[in-house]
Amino acid sequence: MTMRRSMSRFAAHARMTILGCLVLQSAVAADAPVYRAQGLDTPTIDFVLGNFEFVLLHELAHVVIGELKVPVLGPEEDAADFLAATALLNATRGDPVGYQRANNRLLAAAEGLKLSWVAGNARGGDLPYWSNHSLNIQRFYSITCLLYGNDPEAFAGLPAAIGMPAGRADGCAAEWQKADRSFRWLLDNFGRKAGEAAGPEIGIFYAEPETLAAAELLRAIQKDGMLERVAAAMRERIILPRQISLQMRSCGRPEAAWQPERRELVLCFELLDALYQLSGRRDAGLNRSGGMHLPQLPAGAGARPRG
Ligand SMILES: [Zn+2]
Repeated sequence: MTMRRSMSRFAAHARMTILGCLVLQSAVAADAPVYRAQGLDTPTIDFVLGNFEFVLLHELAHVVIGELKVPVLGPEEDAADFLAATALLNATRGDPVGYQRANNRLLAAAEGLKLSWVAGNARGGDLPYWSNHSLNIQRFYSITCLLYGNDPEAFAGLPAAIGMPAGRADGCAAEWQKADRSFRWLLDNFGRKAGEAAGPEIGIFYAEPETLAAAELLRAIQKDGMLERVAAAMRERIILPRQISLQMRSCGRPEAAWQPERRELVLCFELLDALYQLSGRRDAGLNRSGGMHLPQLPAGAGARPRG
């Protein structure tokens, strides 16, 4: 699922097709923040972790679809985005702290897609209409529509803040319900049944990052327990037919990809570096382009247990 990048004239925008089977090259290097000795600030870490967890879930969606041969009615990349979003928001129902974290992580992922789009436009690259991924700006609106549709009260101001027309916003609750129903259908038909033994272990391996920023971000990911938590939730709900592993390591490119022949989901340290660079556009880039910071879910909002 690795995006090929041999067509150089498409490269500028293709490189910005972050998130997914994704590649984010050093396209934002000009705006790259310099790693400071005092370490990364909390908003930067939150931004990277949000994007990274969404990528992890998106890739695991490819694992589930491929390994269990789940029927997909439409582009798999869009299905992986929707599965990642619904899995993230459904995993923490009834857990106010977790639910708020999940919403904010999905917001961060949406913001990452918007920033990638803005950065690609700033570079003047050709748009990758040919890609099997929707354009990043479309992915941004699809994810924010799901966030709003899932919790219209908490995100009442979101559509206006991001310039989403009422014609789309009015249908977001229905879009969310359809995505949520599909997620439940997946679990009902392909999920682990009550009393059924758990499937094979999911291995988790960490190599040593080569940059200070990636090293600090890896520590944050490990402190968060992200990979372990997501793998445990996956094993709780799904029985994969064979053992797989999650591998965090250097790859030479900022990418995350499911490699079925090796049974490895590879999450590259270069992706952490690229997301760190992208975070430098949160103030300068997005606001210069007439954008805005996405509102964080207010503390306590949307925390009520939902079905
Ligand atoms: Zn993908």
